[in-house]
Amino acid sequence: MDYKELWIQIIKDLDPIIKRTNILAWFNNTAIIDQTENEITVGLPLPMYLDWHQKHLKVNTLQVVKKMLPKIDCIKYVVDLALDRDEDPRGVKIIEIFPSKKRERKLPNKNEIKLPGGIVSKILNKRYQLSNFVIGNNNRLAHAACLSVASKPGVNYNPLFVYGGVGLGKTHLLQGLGNEVKKNYPNKIVVYLTSEDFTNEVVLAIQKRSTEKLREKYRKADLLIIDDIQFIANKDRTQEEFFHTFNALYQAGKQIVISSDRPPIELDILEDRLRSRFSMGMIADISEPDYETRLAILHTKLHYTGIILSNEVLEFIAYNIKGNVRELEGAMNQVVAVYDLENITPTIKSVTKILKNMIKNTENIGFIEDKKEMVYIKTFDDLIDIVCEYFNVPKSEVLGVSRIREYTLPRQVSMYLGKKKMKMALTRIAEKFSRDHTSVLHAVRKIEKELRNNRQIIRDVNAIKEEAGLM
Ligand code: ADP
Ligand code: MG
Repeated sequence: MDYKELWIQIIKDLDPIIKRTNILAWFNNTAIIDQTENEITVGLPLPMYLDWHQKHLKVNTLQVVKKMLPKIDCIKYVVDLALDRDEDPRGVKIIEIFPSKKRERKLPNKNEIKLPGGIVSKILNKRYQLSNFVIGNNNRLAHAACLSVASKPGVNYNPLFVYGGVGLGKTHLLQGLGNEVKKNYPNKIVVYLTSEDFTNEVVLAIQKRSTEKLREKYRKADLLIIDDIQFIANKDRTQEEFFHTFNALYQAGKQIVISSDRPPIELDILEDRLRSRFSMGMIADISEPDYETRLAILHTKLHYTGIILSNEVLEFIAYNIKGNVRELEGAMNQVVAVYDLENITPTIKSVTKILKNMIKNTENIGFIEDKKEMVYIKTFDDLIDIVCEYFNVPKSEVLGVSRIREYTLPRQVSMYLGKKKMKMALTRIAEKFSRDHTSVLHAVRKIEKELRNNRQIIRDVNAIKEEAGLM
Protein backbone atom coordinates (compact mmCIF):
# COMPACT_ATOMS: atom_id res chain seq x y z
CA MET A 1 0.00 0.00 0.00
CA ASP A 2 1.49 3.37 -0.89
CA TYR A 3 1.26 6.40 1.36
CA LYS A 4 -1.77 7.76 -0.40
CA GLU A 5 -3.78 4.55 -0.24
CA LEU A 6 -2.78 4.15 3.37
CA TRP A 7 -3.90 7.68 4.24
CA ILE A 8 -7.21 7.25 2.41
CA GLN A 9 -7.85 4.08 4.37
CA ILE A 10 -7.07 5.87 7.62
CA ILE A 11 -9.45 8.68 6.76
CA LYS A 12 -12.18 6.21 5.87
CA ASP A 13 -11.69 4.53 9.22
CA LEU A 14 -11.86 7.88 10.94
CA ASP A 15 -15.15 8.68 9.28
CA PRO A 16 -17.36 6.94 11.83
CA ILE A 17 -15.43 8.52 14.69
CA ILE A 18 -15.11 12.13 13.56
CA LYS A 19 -17.89 14.25 12.17
CA ARG A 20 -17.98 14.28 8.39
CA THR A 21 -17.91 18.06 8.31
CA ASN A 22 -14.66 18.01 10.24
CA ILE A 23 -13.16 15.51 7.86
CA LEU A 24 -14.18 17.70 4.97
CA ALA A 25 -12.68 20.72 6.64
CA TRP A 26 -9.42 19.36 7.99
CA PHE A 27 -8.30 16.42 5.89
CA ASN A 28 -8.60 17.77 2.38
CA ASN A 29 -5.21 18.12 0.69
CA THR A 30 -3.43 16.36 3.51
CA ALA A 31 -1.02 13.47 2.98
CA ILE A 32 1.32 11.05 4.64
CA ILE A 33 4.71 12.24 3.54
CA ASP A 34 6.99 10.00 5.51
CA GLN A 35 6.96 6.84 7.54
CA THR A 36 9.56 5.22 9.75
CA GLU A 37 9.22 2.16 11.86
CA ASN A 38 7.37 3.83 14.68
CA GLU A 39 6.37 7.22 13.30
CA ILE A 40 4.36 8.66 10.44
CA THR A 41 4.63 12.22 9.23
CA VAL A 42 1.47 13.89 8.06
CA GLY A 43 1.69 16.88 5.77
CA LEU A 44 -0.83 19.68 6.20
CA PRO A 45 -1.53 22.30 3.55
CA LEU A 46 -1.75 25.35 5.81
CA PRO A 47 -0.43 26.41 9.22
CA MET A 48 -3.94 26.82 10.59
CA TYR A 49 -4.44 23.04 10.28
CA LEU A 50 -1.62 22.35 12.66
CA ASP A 51 -3.24 23.43 15.84
CA TRP A 52 -6.50 21.75 15.02
CA HIS A 53 -4.91 18.41 14.17
CA GLN A 54 -2.73 18.44 17.22
CA LYS A 55 -5.47 19.45 19.61
CA HIS A 56 -8.52 17.72 18.26
CA LEU A 57 -7.62 15.03 15.77
CA LYS A 58 -4.34 13.49 16.78
CA VAL A 59 -5.62 11.07 19.39
CA ASN A 60 -8.25 9.58 17.15
CA THR A 61 -5.93 9.47 14.17
CA LEU A 62 -3.24 7.66 16.09
CA GLN A 63 -5.75 5.19 17.39
CA VAL A 64 -6.85 4.33 13.85
CA VAL A 65 -3.27 4.18 12.56
CA LYS A 66 -2.31 1.78 15.31
CA LYS A 67 -4.99 -0.66 14.25
CA MET A 68 -3.35 -0.96 10.86
CA LEU A 69 0.26 -0.45 11.85
CA PRO A 70 0.63 -1.50 15.46
CA LYS A 71 4.23 -0.40 15.68
CA ILE A 72 3.48 3.26 15.06
CA ASP A 73 3.27 5.20 18.27
CA CYS A 74 3.73 8.75 17.11
CA ILE A 75 2.33 11.11 14.51
CA LYS A 76 4.37 14.07 13.44
CA TYR A 77 2.71 16.98 11.66
CA VAL A 78 4.44 19.28 9.23
CA VAL A 79 3.08 22.11 7.15
CA ASP A 80 3.79 21.66 3.47
CA LEU A 81 2.34 24.58 1.56
CA ALA A 82 2.67 22.80 -1.77
CA LEU A 83 -0.16 20.56 -0.65
CA ASP A 84 -2.51 23.50 -0.73
CA ARG A 85 -2.53 23.40 -4.50
CA ASP A 86 -5.22 20.99 -5.60
CA GLU A 87 -2.93 19.73 -8.34
CA ASP A 88 -0.44 18.31 -5.87
CA PRO A 89 -0.86 14.56 -6.45
CA ARG A 90 0.13 13.64 -2.90
CA GLY A 91 -2.81 15.31 -1.20
CA VAL A 92 -6.06 13.40 -0.78
CA LYS A 93 -9.25 14.91 -2.15
CA ILE A 94 -11.92 14.27 0.40
CA ILE A 95 -14.66 14.90 -2.07
CA GLU A 96 -13.40 11.89 -4.05
CA ILE A 97 -13.29 9.65 -1.02
CA PHE A 98 -16.78 10.60 0.05
CA PRO A 99 -18.78 11.71 -2.97
CA SER A 100 -20.82 13.71 -0.60
CA LYS A 101 -24.21 15.23 -0.33
CA LYS A 102 -22.39 18.45 0.12
CA ARG A 103 -21.06 18.32 -3.40
CA GLU A 104 -24.44 17.50 -4.83
CA ARG A 105 -25.89 20.49 -3.10
CA LYS A 106 -23.38 22.66 -4.82
CA LEU A 107 -24.45 21.54 -8.25
CA PRO A 108 -26.82 24.11 -9.68
CA ASN A 109 -30.49 23.40 -9.35
CA LYS A 110 -30.09 20.22 -7.36
CA ASN A 111 -32.44 21.63 -4.79
CA GLU A 112 -35.07 22.29 -7.40
CA ILE A 113 -37.70 19.99 -8.77
CA LYS A 114 -39.89 20.06 -11.82
CA LEU A 115 -43.56 19.72 -11.04
CA PRO A 116 -46.27 18.67 -13.50
CA GLY A 117 -46.47 21.11 -16.38
CA GLY A 118 -42.79 21.99 -16.09
CA ILE A 119 -43.18 24.30 -13.11
CA VAL A 120 -39.94 24.77 -11.27
CA SER A 121 -40.03 24.79 -7.49
CA LYS A 122 -37.46 24.61 -4.76
CA ILE A 123 -37.64 21.45 -2.71
CA LEU A 124 -39.20 22.17 0.65
CA ASN A 125 -37.03 21.46 3.62
CA LYS A 126 -38.71 18.90 5.88
CA ARG A 127 -37.07 20.47 8.90
CA TYR A 128 -39.37 23.42 8.53
CA GLN A 129 -42.78 22.48 9.89
CA LEU A 130 -45.48 24.61 11.40
CA SER A 131 -45.52 22.14 14.27
CA ASN A 132 -41.91 22.74 15.28
CA PHE A 133 -42.15 26.50 15.00
CA VAL A 134 -42.05 27.99 18.47
CA ILE A 135 -44.87 30.44 19.00
CA GLY A 136 -44.21 33.64 20.90
CA ASN A 137 -45.74 37.09 21.07
CA ASN A 138 -43.47 38.12 18.23
CA ASN A 139 -44.89 35.69 15.68
CA ARG A 140 -48.27 34.53 16.97
CA LEU A 141 -50.34 36.19 14.27
CA ALA A 142 -48.09 35.13 11.42
CA HIS A 143 -48.10 31.53 12.64
CA ALA A 144 -51.88 31.47 13.08
CA ALA A 145 -52.37 32.91 9.59
CA CYS A 146 -50.12 30.24 8.10
CA LEU A 147 -52.02 27.49 9.90
CA SER A 148 -55.30 28.86 8.68
CA VAL A 149 -54.08 29.12 5.10
CA ALA A 150 -52.65 25.60 5.28
CA SER A 151 -55.99 24.19 6.34
CA LYS A 152 -57.90 25.87 3.51
CA PRO A 153 -55.61 27.32 0.88
CA GLY A 154 -57.17 29.99 -1.31
CA VAL A 155 -60.06 30.60 1.02
CA ASN A 156 -59.13 32.57 4.08
CA TYR A 157 -56.34 35.05 3.65
CA ASN A 158 -55.34 35.67 0.10
CA PRO A 159 -52.69 36.78 -0.43
CA LEU A 160 -50.94 36.20 2.85
CA PHE A 161 -48.07 38.62 3.27
CA VAL A 162 -45.55 37.89 6.04
CA TYR A 163 -42.79 40.35 6.79
CA GLY A 164 -39.97 40.67 9.30
CA GLY A 165 -36.22 41.12 9.67
CA VAL A 166 -33.47 38.69 8.81
CA GLY A 167 -33.39 35.36 10.61
CA LEU A 168 -36.73 35.72 12.35
CA GLY A 169 -38.39 32.68 10.82
CA LYS A 170 -40.09 33.78 7.59
CA THR A 171 -38.65 30.99 5.50
CA HIS A 172 -39.38 28.47 8.22
CA LEU A 173 -43.03 29.57 8.34
CA LEU A 174 -43.52 29.68 4.58
CA GLN A 175 -41.92 26.31 3.97
CA GLY A 176 -43.77 24.92 6.97
CA LEU A 177 -46.97 26.10 5.37
CA GLY A 178 -46.00 24.45 2.09
CA ASN A 179 -45.17 21.18 3.84
CA GLU A 180 -48.48 21.29 5.68
CA VAL A 181 -50.51 21.84 2.50
CA LYS A 182 -48.72 18.94 0.85
CA LYS A 183 -49.67 16.79 3.81
CA ASN A 184 -53.30 17.95 3.90
CA TYR A 185 -53.80 17.98 0.15
CA PRO A 186 -51.40 15.58 -1.57
CA ASN A 187 -52.80 16.46 -4.98
CA LYS A 188 -52.36 20.17 -4.80
CA ILE A 189 -49.42 21.67 -6.64
CA VAL A 190 -47.28 23.58 -4.17
CA VAL A 191 -44.66 25.91 -5.62
CA TYR A 192 -42.02 27.55 -3.48
CA LEU A 193 -39.61 30.04 -5.01
CA THR A 194 -37.56 32.98 -3.91
CA SER A 195 -38.10 36.14 -5.88
CA GLU A 196 -34.64 35.58 -7.28
CA ASP A 197 -35.66 32.18 -8.63
CA PHE A 198 -38.73 33.74 -10.10
CA THR A 199 -36.67 36.50 -11.68
CA ASN A 200 -34.38 33.90 -13.23
CA GLU A 201 -37.36 32.13 -14.71
CA VAL A 202 -38.63 35.37 -16.16
CA VAL A 203 -35.26 36.27 -17.62
CA LEU A 204 -34.97 32.86 -19.25
CA ALA A 205 -38.48 33.15 -20.63
CA ILE A 206 -37.72 36.56 -22.05
CA GLN A 207 -34.63 35.15 -23.77
CA LYS A 208 -36.68 32.34 -25.21
CA ARG A 209 -39.61 34.62 -25.97
CA SER A 210 -41.88 32.41 -24.00
CA THR A 211 -43.31 34.61 -21.27
CA GLU A 212 -46.80 33.59 -22.27
CA LYS A 213 -45.87 29.99 -21.54
CA LEU A 214 -44.41 31.00 -18.22
CA ARG A 215 -47.70 32.52 -17.18
CA GLU A 216 -49.58 29.46 -18.34
CA LYS A 217 -47.24 27.30 -16.37
CA TYR A 218 -47.56 29.05 -13.05
CA ARG A 219 -51.28 29.34 -13.40
CA LYS A 220 -51.41 25.61 -12.69
CA ALA A 221 -50.07 26.06 -9.17
CA ASP A 222 -52.53 25.73 -6.31
CA LEU A 223 -50.25 27.40 -3.85
CA LEU A 224 -47.55 29.81 -4.94
CA ILE A 225 -45.08 30.84 -2.26
CA ILE A 226 -42.59 33.57 -3.08
CA ASP A 227 -39.96 34.12 -0.41
CA ASP A 228 -38.07 37.41 -0.05
CA ILE A 229 -40.11 39.43 -2.50
CA GLN A 230 -37.97 42.50 -1.75
CA PHE A 231 -35.41 41.25 -4.26
CA ILE A 232 -37.92 41.58 -7.04
CA ALA A 233 -37.84 45.32 -6.68
CA ASN A 234 -36.52 47.39 -9.54
CA LYS A 235 -36.82 44.70 -12.14
CA ASP A 236 -39.63 45.99 -14.29
CA ARG A 237 -40.22 42.99 -16.47
CA THR A 238 -40.18 40.63 -13.51
CA GLN A 239 -42.72 42.76 -11.71
CA GLU A 240 -44.93 42.81 -14.72
CA GLU A 241 -44.80 39.05 -15.10
CA PHE A 242 -45.40 38.59 -11.43
CA PHE A 243 -48.37 40.92 -11.59
CA HIS A 244 -49.95 38.88 -14.35
CA THR A 245 -49.20 35.59 -12.63
CA PHE A 246 -50.58 36.97 -9.42
CA ASN A 247 -53.81 38.06 -11.04
CA ALA A 248 -54.27 34.81 -12.88
CA LEU A 249 -53.81 32.76 -9.74
CA TYR A 250 -55.87 35.06 -7.61
CA GLN A 251 -58.78 35.04 -9.99
CA ALA A 252 -58.68 31.26 -10.15
CA GLY A 253 -58.96 31.14 -6.35
CA LYS A 254 -55.43 29.88 -5.87
CA GLN A 255 -53.45 30.76 -2.78
CA ILE A 256 -50.52 33.16 -2.84
CA VAL A 257 -48.11 33.60 0.06
CA ILE A 258 -45.36 36.19 0.05
CA SER A 259 -42.61 37.14 2.45
CA SER A 260 -40.56 40.27 2.65
CA ASP A 261 -38.14 41.98 4.95
CA ARG A 262 -40.47 44.97 5.23
CA PRO A 263 -44.17 45.79 4.90
CA PRO A 264 -45.66 46.41 1.43
CA ILE A 265 -45.89 50.11 2.03
CA GLU A 266 -42.13 50.33 2.47
CA LEU A 267 -41.28 48.34 -0.64
CA ASP A 268 -40.43 51.58 -2.42
CA ILE A 269 -39.44 50.24 -5.75
CA LEU A 270 -42.54 48.17 -6.09
CA GLU A 271 -45.10 49.25 -8.62
CA ASP A 272 -48.19 50.65 -7.00
CA ARG A 273 -50.46 48.11 -8.57
CA LEU A 274 -48.44 45.26 -7.06
CA ARG A 275 -48.27 46.97 -3.72
CA SER A 276 -52.00 47.33 -3.58
CA ARG A 277 -52.45 43.69 -4.61
CA PHE A 278 -50.23 42.62 -1.71
CA SER A 279 -52.33 44.63 0.68
CA MET A 280 -55.60 42.99 -0.31
CA GLY A 281 -55.33 39.97 1.95
CA MET A 282 -53.69 39.50 5.29
CA ILE A 283 -50.49 41.17 6.41
CA ALA A 284 -48.69 39.69 9.40
CA ASP A 285 -45.37 40.71 10.84
CA ILE A 286 -42.73 38.82 12.78
CA SER A 287 -40.68 40.81 15.22
CA GLU A 288 -37.78 39.94 17.47
CA PRO A 289 -38.44 37.21 20.01
CA ASP A 290 -38.41 37.99 23.71
CA TYR A 291 -36.25 36.13 26.19
CA GLU A 292 -38.82 33.43 26.96
CA THR A 293 -39.36 32.69 23.29
CA ARG A 294 -35.63 32.59 22.64
CA LEU A 295 -35.20 30.11 25.43
CA ALA A 296 -38.07 27.96 24.14
CA ILE A 297 -36.51 27.97 20.66
CA LEU A 298 -33.19 26.83 22.09
CA HIS A 299 -34.87 23.99 23.93
CA THR A 300 -36.66 22.89 20.76
CA LYS A 301 -33.53 23.03 18.63
CA LEU A 302 -31.41 21.30 21.22
CA HIS A 303 -33.87 18.46 21.32
CA TYR A 304 -32.96 17.63 17.72
CA THR A 305 -29.23 17.49 18.41
CA GLY A 306 -29.69 14.83 21.06
CA ILE A 307 -27.19 16.62 23.25
CA ILE A 308 -27.89 17.92 26.71
CA LEU A 309 -26.79 21.35 27.81
CA SER A 310 -27.46 22.67 31.27
CA ASN A 311 -30.32 25.10 31.75
CA GLU A 312 -27.83 27.61 32.99
CA VAL A 313 -25.96 27.55 29.70
CA LEU A 314 -29.16 27.74 27.63
CA GLU A 315 -30.42 30.66 29.68
CA PHE A 316 -27.11 32.39 29.28
CA ILE A 317 -27.21 32.04 25.49
CA ALA A 318 -30.84 33.14 25.32
CA TYR A 319 -30.09 36.10 27.51
CA ASN A 320 -27.17 37.35 25.47
CA ILE A 321 -28.04 36.58 21.88
CA LYS A 322 -30.96 38.80 21.10
CA GLY A 323 -32.81 39.73 18.02
CA ASN A 324 -31.96 37.09 15.49
CA VAL A 325 -32.98 33.45 15.73
CA ARG A 326 -30.42 32.36 13.19
CA GLU A 327 -27.62 33.73 15.36
CA LEU A 328 -29.20 32.21 18.40
CA GLU A 329 -29.17 28.82 16.73
CA GLY A 330 -25.64 29.44 15.51
CA ALA A 331 -24.47 30.19 19.03
CA MET A 332 -26.04 27.03 20.32
CA ASN A 333 -24.54 24.95 17.53
CA GLN A 334 -21.12 26.36 18.30
CA VAL A 335 -21.48 25.39 21.91
CA VAL A 336 -22.70 21.94 20.93
CA ALA A 337 -19.78 21.55 18.52
CA VAL A 338 -17.24 22.38 21.17
CA TYR A 339 -18.93 19.96 23.52
CA ASP A 340 -18.81 17.28 20.86
CA LEU A 341 -15.28 17.90 19.77
CA GLU A 342 -13.57 18.40 23.06
CA ASN A 343 -15.89 16.27 25.07
CA ILE A 344 -16.10 18.82 27.83
CA THR A 345 -19.27 20.09 29.39
CA PRO A 346 -19.78 23.72 28.48
CA THR A 347 -19.82 26.12 31.39
CA ILE A 348 -20.83 29.77 31.49
CA LYS A 349 -17.16 30.59 31.25
CA SER A 350 -16.44 28.57 28.14
CA VAL A 351 -19.70 29.73 26.56
CA THR A 352 -18.80 33.35 27.21
CA LYS A 353 -15.66 32.79 25.22
CA ILE A 354 -17.57 31.27 22.33
CA LEU A 355 -20.16 34.04 22.28
CA LYS A 356 -17.49 36.69 22.28
CA ASN A 357 -15.82 35.03 19.32
CA MET A 358 -19.11 34.89 17.50
CA ILE A 359 -19.94 38.50 17.81
CA LYS A 360 -17.63 40.39 15.56
CA ASN A 361 -17.49 43.93 16.83
CA THR A 362 -16.75 43.22 20.43
CA GLU A 363 -14.46 45.91 21.62
CA ASN A 364 -14.70 45.87 25.34
CA ILE A 365 -14.28 42.50 26.84
CA GLY A 366 -17.55 41.54 28.44
CA PHE A 367 -19.69 43.59 26.10
CA ILE A 368 -21.67 42.62 23.10
CA GLU A 369 -22.47 45.33 20.64
CA ASP A 370 -26.17 45.23 20.02
CA LYS A 371 -27.90 47.48 17.55
CA LYS A 372 -29.99 49.19 20.16
CA GLU A 373 -28.17 48.82 23.39
CA MET A 374 -24.96 47.74 24.95
CA VAL A 375 -25.45 44.42 26.60
CA TYR A 376 -23.31 43.12 29.35
CA ILE A 377 -22.35 39.52 29.22
CA LYS A 378 -22.74 39.03 32.92
CA THR A 379 -23.37 36.02 35.00
CA PHE A 380 -25.52 36.14 38.04
CA ASP A 381 -22.35 35.88 40.07
CA ASP A 382 -21.01 39.07 38.48
CA LEU A 383 -24.25 40.80 39.33
CA ILE A 384 -23.97 39.82 42.99
CA ASP A 385 -20.41 41.15 43.00
CA ILE A 386 -21.65 44.49 41.71
CA VAL A 387 -24.39 44.64 44.33
CA CYS A 388 -21.96 43.83 47.11
CA GLU A 389 -19.52 46.40 45.93
CA TYR A 390 -22.26 49.00 45.72
CA PHE A 391 -23.46 48.38 49.27
CA ASN A 392 -19.92 47.79 50.41
CA VAL A 393 -20.62 44.50 52.11
CA PRO A 394 -18.82 41.15 51.94
CA LYS A 395 -20.28 38.69 49.45
CA SER A 396 -20.03 35.84 51.95
CA GLU A 397 -22.50 37.65 54.20
CA VAL A 398 -24.89 38.36 51.36
CA LEU A 399 -24.80 34.72 50.29
CA GLY A 400 -24.99 33.64 53.91
CA VAL A 401 -27.79 33.47 56.43
CA SER A 402 -27.44 36.73 58.38
CA ARG A 403 -30.68 38.59 58.96
CA ILE A 404 -29.16 42.00 59.56
CA ARG A 405 -30.72 44.51 57.18
CA GLU A 406 -27.29 45.62 56.07
CA TYR A 407 -26.98 42.19 54.41
CA THR A 408 -30.59 41.27 53.69
CA LEU A 409 -31.14 44.31 51.50
CA PRO A 410 -28.27 43.54 49.08
CA ARG A 411 -29.42 39.93 49.10
CA GLN A 412 -32.97 40.90 48.18
CA VAL A 413 -31.83 43.37 45.54
CA SER A 414 -29.64 40.69 43.96
CA MET A 415 -32.55 38.30 43.86
CA TYR A 416 -34.85 40.96 42.46
CA LEU A 417 -32.46 41.90 39.65
CA GLY A 418 -31.68 38.26 38.92
CA LYS A 419 -35.36 37.56 38.46
CA LYS A 420 -36.59 40.74 36.84
CA LYS A 421 -33.63 41.82 34.78
CA MET A 422 -31.62 38.69 34.11
CA LYS A 423 -34.80 36.64 33.80
CA MET A 424 -33.37 33.83 35.84
CA ALA A 425 -35.54 31.01 37.10
CA LEU A 426 -36.50 31.33 40.77
CA THR A 427 -35.06 27.92 41.48
CA ARG A 428 -31.69 28.91 40.05
CA ILE A 429 -31.55 32.03 42.18
CA ALA A 430 -32.59 29.98 45.18
CA GLU A 431 -29.79 27.52 44.50
CA LYS A 432 -27.22 30.29 44.48
CA PHE A 433 -28.36 31.50 47.87
CA SER A 434 -28.96 28.02 49.28
CA ARG A 435 -32.58 28.83 49.96
CA ASP A 436 -35.88 27.65 48.61
CA HIS A 437 -37.66 29.44 45.81
CA THR A 438 -40.46 30.84 47.98
CA SER A 439 -37.98 32.94 49.91
CA VAL A 440 -36.66 34.28 46.60
CA LEU A 441 -40.18 35.10 45.52
CA HIS A 442 -40.72 36.82 48.84
CA ALA A 443 -37.59 38.94 48.34
CA VAL A 444 -38.58 39.88 44.79
CA ARG A 445 -42.02 41.01 45.94
CA LYS A 446 -40.54 42.94 48.82
CA ILE A 447 -38.24 44.95 46.57
CA GLU A 448 -41.05 45.50 44.09
CA LYS A 449 -43.10 46.98 46.88
CA GLU A 450 -40.26 49.16 48.11
CA LEU A 451 -39.68 50.41 44.58
CA ARG A 452 -43.13 51.93 44.62
CA ASN A 453 -42.41 54.41 47.39
CA ASN A 454 -38.91 54.14 48.86
CA ARG A 455 -36.82 56.78 47.12
CA GLN A 456 -33.54 55.49 48.49
CA ILE A 457 -34.16 51.98 47.17
CA ILE A 458 -35.20 53.37 43.79
CA ARG A 459 -31.90 55.23 43.60
CA ASP A 460 -29.91 52.20 44.75
CA VAL A 461 -31.53 49.81 42.33
CA ASN A 462 -31.18 52.20 39.42
CA ALA A 463 -27.53 52.82 40.15
CA ILE A 464 -26.84 49.09 40.28
CA LYS A 465 -28.78 48.46 37.10
CA GLU A 466 -26.73 51.05 35.32
CA GLU A 467 -23.50 49.69 36.69
CA ALA A 468 -24.42 46.17 35.60
CA GLY A 469 -25.67 47.22 32.18
CA LEU A 470 -29.17 46.06 33.02
CA MET A 471 -31.14 49.21 32.28
P1 ADP B 1 -35.80 34.35 7.72
O1 ADP B 1 -36.31 33.62 6.54
O2 ADP B 1 -36.81 35.24 8.35
O3 ADP B 1 -34.52 35.08 7.48
P2 ADP B 1 -35.48 31.69 8.77
O4 ADP B 1 -36.85 31.16 8.57
O5 ADP B 1 -34.44 31.24 7.82
O6 ADP B 1 -35.48 33.28 8.86
O7 ADP B 1 -35.05 31.34 10.27
C1 ADP B 1 -33.71 31.25 10.70
C2 ADP B 1 -33.56 30.06 11.63
O8 ADP B 1 -34.26 30.30 12.82
C3 ADP B 1 -34.14 28.79 11.04
O9 ADP B 1 -33.30 27.72 11.37
C4 ADP B 1 -35.46 28.63 11.73
O10 ADP B 1 -35.81 27.26 11.89
C5 ADP B 1 -35.20 29.27 13.07
N1 ADP B 1 -36.39 29.89 13.68
C6 ADP B 1 -36.81 31.16 13.56
N2 ADP B 1 -37.92 31.39 14.28
C7 ADP B 1 -38.22 30.21 14.87
C8 ADP B 1 -39.27 29.79 15.75
N3 ADP B 1 -40.21 30.63 16.18
N4 ADP B 1 -39.27 28.50 16.14
C9 ADP B 1 -38.32 27.64 15.74
N5 ADP B 1 -37.31 27.98 14.92
C10 ADP B 1 -37.24 29.25 14.48
MG1 MG C 1 -35.57 33.56 4.59
